[in-house]
Amino acid sequence: MTEHPFSLRPRGLRPWLLWLAGLFILVAACAAPATSTTPPAASMASPAASTASPATSTAPAVSARLQVLATTTILGDVVKNVAGEAADVRTLLPVNADPHGFQPTPADVVLISQADLVFVNGLGLEELLLPLLAGALPAHKIVAVSEGIEPIVAHAAEDAHEEAAEHDHAEGIDPHTWTDPTHVILWTQVIAAALAAADPAQAERYQANARAYEQTLRDLDAWVQEQVAQVPPAQRLLVSEHAVFAYFARRYGFTQVGTVIPGFSALAEPSAQDLAALEDAIRQVGVRAIFVGNTVNPRLAERVAADTGIRVIPVYSGSLSAADGPASTYVAYIRYNTHAFVAGMN
Ligand SMILES: [Zn+2]
Repeated sequence: MTEHPFSLRPRGLRPWLLWLAGLFILVAACAAPATSTTPPAASMASPAASTASPATSTAPAVSARLQVLATTTILGDVVKNVAGEAADVRTLLPVNADPHGFQPTPADVVLISQADLVFVNGLGLEELLLPLLAGALPAHKIVAVSEGIEPIVAHAAEDAHEEAAEHDHAEGIDPHTWTDPTHVILWTQVIAAALAAADPAQAERYQANARAYEQTLRDLDAWVQEQVAQVPPAQRLLVSEHAVFAYFARRYGFTQVGTVIPGFSALAEPSAQDLAALEDAIRQVGVRAIFVGNTVNPRLAERVAADTGIRVIPVYSGSLSAADGPASTYVAYIRYNTHAFVAGMN
């Protein structure tokens, strides 16, 4: 399963970051000519390579198709819908990986150095990866699909972070924009424009794919509105493990009562007072369930649910499901979560 997010400490990550930054520079230096025939990964084997994907074991054939990377499985699915058959799209993060804590493997570093475009969510979601990307690639190759979206900004979460001074990401900005499907329509437009600019010969295909997918997303948004209408507004009370669903809540009229982990990053930790306050709020307003995503450890949410006598309901948060699971596309992800919310609140 995924790494236990509550055990990630910024101090422990430092050597990793330095090591990876050095690796980026090395790979950028030796992979600079696109005609290089030796796979750089072979000469850079390290203990961390044990989780490397097998996809990089052979040098890629020289391809006329645009080589595109996306960070999360959610973003990767959207990019694939826009790219269609016109570009090669790969996703960096494995299924169920926590985007906040993701660190690239040496094989990922090679993929990144060879990519024509790398799509990231941005707004600080990929906390550990974004600084490395910015140091390794020219700015025009990195496309942050959420940067143009009006973000939700934390109101009073600042006091929860006195110990987090080492973090340099924007903790006050909610990066989980995709939980509102109308935001993914904006993603689609950003992605189509970036693909078309990098690959003008296929521009019309990208734009046509984007228009078709936008219609799918508009239909999805209308479907969610129909579904949530089954929940009386007074019962639309959302408690999740961290603040993943604030954009969904804003779009569809839910009240976010609280979160088990304070703030917008799954790497933060709640204090005993935070948990006590959440349990008080759950009892006071009559919350019926805590929704816990697939990219975090459920232990704390289970404790809060047990203390307050309510249910834990699994949803998908920062990642799609595996290909044979119930949320293997972005559309299926929104449908699955919507069904879970409606069932859990009624
Ligand atoms: Zn998150």
